[in-house]
Amino acid sequence: MGKRKKMKTRYRRLSYVTDIGGIKSAIGELRGVGYPKQPKLNRNYSPGQDDPEINEKWLIETIKDKIANHPENSMEFPFYGEKIFDEPIVGFIKGDDSFFTDLKRIIGPHHFTPEEIMTWQAEKNGVTPPKAEDLSVVSFVMPITKKTKEENSSKKEWVSERWAQTRLHGEIFSQLFVREIVAYLMERGILAIAPDVTPMFNKKRYPNVGWASPWSHRHMAYAAGLGTFGMHDFLITEKGCAHRLGSFIVNRKLEPNRERPEDIHAYCLHYQDKACLKCIPRCPVDAITRENAHDKEKCYQRVADSTKICNRDYHIFIYGCGLCATAVPCESCIPVNLGK
Ligand code: SF4
Ligand code: SF4
Repeated sequence: MGKRKKMKTRYRRLSYVTDIGGIKSAIGELRGVGYPKQPKLNRNYSPGQDDPEINEKWLIETIKDKIANHPENSMEFPFYGEKIFDEPIVGFIKGDDSFFTDLKRIIGPHHFTPEEIMTWQAEKNGVTPPKAEDLSVVSFVMPITKKTKEENSSKKEWVSERWAQTRLHGEIFSQLFVREIVAYLMERGILAIAPDVTPMFNKKRYPNVGWASPWSHRHMAYAAGLGTFGMHDFLITEKGCAHRLGSFIVNRKLEPNRERPEDIHAYCLHYQDKACLKCIPRCPVDAITRENAHDKEKCYQRVADSTKICNRDYHIFIYGCGLCATAVPCESCIPVNLGK
C-alpha cells in the first residue's frame, strides 16, 4: 500500500466515496490486492565495504528507527502530527520452527509456512528457493500511544476517533515501512517478503475459527515470544495488548531473542486462575463470556458495523473497536499480579 494523503486541516467529505485509501486498504486486508508490485531481487549486487551486516541488531534498530522517525507514523486532522505508535518490540522465529506446521492445523491448511511463501518470491525472481532453515521471520509489536488508549478507554459503545485513525493510518504506515525494508534487502540481493501485501494473501472462512488469514501477525508474535493470548484474543505483551502487529520473512538465519511460553495464555489473569474478566463488561455486544471466551463471529459483526460510525463521525473508511483492549489490566503491560 502506498502513501495515503493525510488531511492536515479538515475532514474529508463524503468519505464513502472520496476515501479511496481506506477502501483500498480494506480490500487489500481481505484479498491482498491493490498493493504496489513486489520489489525485484537484484541478483547482481556485490556487497560494498560500507554495507551493514543484516543481522538481529540491524533489524531491531531499523524497525525502531522507522517508528521513531518516519514521517508517516502520524495521525491526520484533527490530530495531525501526533504519533500513531510508540517504541516497538521486535522478535525472531527460525524458518524451520515446527510451529509453522502446527498453524496449518490451528488456523487452516492455507496458512503459509515461510518456505512456501518465499518459494513464490524466489521463483518470481528466477532464483532457487531457499530452504526453511535459511529463513527467519521478523515479528514486531507497535504499541498504541497513551492518548489513543485513554480516548478508547472512555468509549462504551463504539471505537474512538484516534483508535479508528490508528487502525487505518497505522496499518498503511506499517505496510509502507516494511515494504521499504523489504525493498532495501531485495536491492542488496537478499530475498525478503511481507506475505500480507502479496496477491497470495487471501482470507478464508472456516467453521471453527471464522475469517482466517494465510499469514497471522498475531501467531507470529506469539511464536517469537513477544506475548500470549488473552480472553479477548488480543496478544498480551510486555507493552500490553493495545497495539498493532507486523511481520515479514528474510533469507537470513536469525537467532530468537525471547522465550516462547508453552502456555498460550500465560499472561492472562483469568487463565492463570486470578480474578479479572475485566474485558467482559467492556464489550458492548457480549462477545466475551466466562464460558466461551471470545466469540469471533459476534466480534467480527460488531467491528464490521463500526464502518458506518467511522465514516459518519470520523470521515474515514475503516472499521475497528478495541474497547476490550483498553481500560483493562492487560492494556499496557503484562498484568502486574502475574509477577512477570
Ligand atoms: S482483562 Fe483480564 S481476563 Fe481479560 S484478557 Fe486481560 S487479563 Fe485476561
Ligand atoms: S473488539 Fe470485539 S470482543 Fe472486543 S469489545 Fe469490540 S466487539 Fe467486543
